Amino acid sequence: MWWILYRKIIDRLRSYVEIFPHASLMESQGGILDFGTVVHTDMADGPFSVVLVCEHASNRIPEYLGDMGLSADALQSHIAWDPGALAIAKLMAERMQAPLVHGGVSRLVYDCNRPPEAAGAMPVRSEDYQIPANADMSDQERKSRIEGIYKPFIAALAGLIADNRTALELMVTIHSFTPVYHGQRREVELGVLHGVDDRFAQAMMVSTPDDPPFVIRLNEPYSAADGVAHTLDAQALPHGLLNVMIEIRNDLIQTPEQQEAMADCLVPWIVQTLAELKKGGAA
Ligand SMILES: [Zn+2]
Repeated sequence: MWWILYRKIIDRLRSYVEIFPHASLMESQGGILDFGTVVHTDMADGPFSVVLVCEHASNRIPEYLGDMGLSADALQSHIAWDPGALAIAKLMAERMQAPLVHGGVSRLVYDCNRPPEAAGAMPVRSEDYQIPANADMSDQERKSRIEGIYKPFIAALAGLIADNRTALELMVTIHSFTPVYHGQRREVELGVLHGVDDRFAQAMMVSTPDDPPFVIRLNEPYSAADGVAHTLDAQALPHGLLNVMIEIRNDLIQTPEQQEAMADCLVPWIVQTLAELKKGGAA
């Protein structure tokens, strides 16, 4: 009977999901939606005091969505991901011996730095682009993306935090932004952003590197008011972890040399800020 075969295939796919929890397959009205690997965790062996997160690391679109109705250029651009952010996050993870949780799917499919109820979680529009695949989405499709992308992402991060809560002190999220937005050139090169808990961001601004190699600003080019502090507030705050979001202008981290220079700036700055806060009893 065809349905016995169908059930067997579903069961086989379910066991695949259990064996590889970061690979997400969802049942939908239209059949099985294969999201592929939606979250990666590098260097998860603790104990460690810092966890790094890069929600917008990938511009990968799951195969079933095709090109989402967008051009190849749009899918390579900052609307689909944060160019350069993963390279920086990996360099920082290596130097700080910190684990890194990074997304495996484009933010156009699901933006893991947004809660499901936010309009930007599955955006219908991003800057000048309409996102055809996100217009008139069925409730089922919406639910599948939440269950298949967002929930495994936050579960991976929450699991890592829970396993290492005793040693863990700080969460740093790494992002990049476009130099020109809606035709306006952005002057800020490195943004230090905070959510509800501003302790670490404020401390970083007090201990900026001497003769800073970049234009550093607090809460630019975005702030929590733009809804960008979701991971910090939802994942770090409940555990009392110090937390900060780093936004880097993406023209400054295109080459390996630029990426090294950015890590050279950020790593000692963050490590020193944490040490100073600990001395003061904040962590
Ligand atoms: Zn980002």
